[in-house]
Amino acid sequence: MAKRPKPGKCIYCLEYSDDLTWDHVLPVSWYPESTPKNIEKWKVPACLSCNRRLGKIEEDLLVRLGLCLDPNSIPALGIPHKTRRSVNPVYGRNEKDRKARTRKREKILDEITWSKTFPKDGILPNFRPKIGLRYDDYPLVYIPDSLLREYNEKIVRGIIYVVEEKKLDLEYIIELIITEDNDDSVARLFQKPTHIYDRGYGFVIKQISHKDNCSWLFEFNIWDRFVFYASVYPQ
Ligand SMILES: [Zn+2]
Repeated sequence: MAKRPKPGKCIYCLEYSDDLTWDHVLPVSWYPESTPKNIEKWKVPACLSCNRRLGKIEEDLLVRLGLCLDPNSIPALGIPHKTRRSVNPVYGRNEKDRKARTRKREKILDEITWSKTFPKDGILPNFRPKIGLRYDDYPLVYIPDSLLREYNEKIVRGIIYVVEEKKLDLEYIIELIITEDNDDSVARLFQKPTHIYDRGYGFVIKQISHKDNCSWLFEFNIWDRFVFYASVYPQ
């Protein structure tokens, strides 16, 4: 792959740019250490501004989810440890980095709320405490809806570009679907997917293509824990 993409349109904002960059469809920092070395990490042409903006979203979401992962999980190997390090000033490379980690730590701690009872809804599927574990207080990590939506849209645009060689126009509807814990109605649709993309332990993506070949359903399973769906169709 060339060092830099040829000038052209960014696949996210569709603006023309003379200096496009390569953006990882599945964020590089989200791959667990258990990922086989021969897995190709999909890259797509993106403008610098989208690359940076999406990078911040991925980083923010990773800290929130990473804190909730099991340190002994093979599909998430190294992610919980890396997340904790990223908010620990002890690991800072210099004074500026130590300060940035402290700020990140304060921000996330500030947003964690403690509850005596476990909330009935609003919990991501598979993110309830392990059965049999009891807490006096449950720490709740807040995941803003907007982060999930932007992350979903970014991955969908990237995958469609890689596997379908299409740049989705901005009018496309990219709907994020998050189911309740005990609801397998959407998961059942994926018993016979059109494609499965297994990117090592960290990411397993299933795709169902509609006959018109311009609408799709996706199932994303990240770290065998974080599961969501996307429905993609023209307006
Ligand atoms: Zn862009």
